[in-house]
Amino acid sequence: MKHGEHVRRVLSEEIVESCKFLNSSGLCFGASGNISVRYHDSILISPSGRAYSTMSPTDVVEIDQNGLYADDRKPSSEWRLHTSIYKNFKSAMAVVHTHSPYAVALACQRRPIPAFHYMVAIAGGNSIRCAQYATFGSEELSQYMLQALIDRSACLLANHGVVVYGRDLNEAIWRAGEVEMLARQYLLSENGGQPVLLTDKQMDEVFVAFADYKKK
Ligand code: 13P
Ligand code: ZN
Repeated sequence: MKHGEHVRRVLSEEIVESCKFLNSSGLCFGASGNISVRYHDSILISPSGRAYSTMSPTDVVEIDQNGLYADDRKPSSEWRLHTSIYKNFKSAMAVVHTHSPYAVALACQRRPIPAFHYMVAIAGGNSIRCAQYATFGSEELSQYMLQALIDRSACLLANHGVVVYGRDLNEAIWRAGEVEMLARQYLLSENGGQPVLLTDKQMDEVFVAFADYKKK
């Protein structure tokens, strides 16, 4: 096997493993959600409509930045979300889209996750925004998502789910899990009251502390 083919094979295995993790962790059910990684000038992305439980590395599809592909399999219907992130954020090496339940509950109310907890900073700012609604797979949805991702590495999609990116697949999967946990904690914090939100100054201090925390 040539080196290039070997790299593609390893990345495809990682995508399938991560898809199965989305199912086993409860972040996604059935075929909902999708995963991609940057691969040279192309993208390796999970196939469309395929239940993760039966997915194998040969099902992963290579697409170019315009969604063109040579494989027999169809790439995820959300390839536009993925390509537009790689085009707009140079540091993005992996993208994860989920329909994780608590984040979906908030996204259906079209509400962002505010700074109710300092961990909101893991998405890069003082809130995790909710992008406007558009049909799944549409160019319009990509445009709304990009607006919600300004200075952020995660956002909710109205009446739909979550999109995150990371510097590698591990980071993107971790971030998708954190967004779900934050959505769950936020909804819990509203039981019988309203959470007290952190101020911009307090969040600024979190960013400083985060930079130091990561050095350790
Ligand atoms: P795909 O199976 O085409 O990736 O679609 C799943 C999804 O989450 C659509 O938004
Ligand atoms: Zn979706």
